[in-house]
Amino acid sequence: MLKEYYPYEYVKSVFAIDYKRLWELGYRGLIFDVDNTVVHHGDDSNPKVDHFFEVLHKMGFKTCLLSDNEKSRVERFNKNIQTLYVCDADKPSTKGYEKALELMGVEKDKAICIGDQIITDIHGANNSGMASILVHFIRLPGEKRIGIRRYVEFFVMWTWKHRKKYRYRLGDIRRKK
Ligand SMILES: [Mg+2]
Repeated sequence: MLKEYYPYEYVKSVFAIDYKRLWELGYRGLIFDVDNTVVHHGDDSNPKVDHFFEVLHKMGFKTCLLSDNEKSRVERFNKNIQTLYVCDADKPSTKGYEKALELMGVEKDKAICIGDQIITDIHGANNSGMASILVHFIRLPGEKRIGIRRYVEFFVMWTWKHRKKYRYRLGDIRRKK
């Protein structure tokens, strides 16, 4: 069933989310995919991203990186952020999600997963009984090639857009400019 792949919301980027609103809704833990969600695939963190996590932590959120990538890559990204992480997560397996909840000390109904791929990030969140937000994958200017998976995702998200029941399950969580 396609609904297994439906996110609760779909936004442009991790920076386009109203985290204050998520806090008001009762969410306390944020689980982030790294590659093409927070930074372009393989990139290090940068001052904007470091600041972003600093603000979330000051708000009181626990955060955890959940990546299929290896330890050295995740640690390199996490160097300045110094947050919790799970590497080699094997998404959509629920194991990594459960580990992330355990590390954060947050119940699954108070955590939300944020990622760029419905087949891994979002499907895993749904399998784990957690809310999720899909972000549009980060693409460098001029980057044209996309994988076949992205076409599957475009199709699934097209159906999502026509099924009101599954959209806006979090209300209005888009950051106002
Ligand atoms: Mg990703």
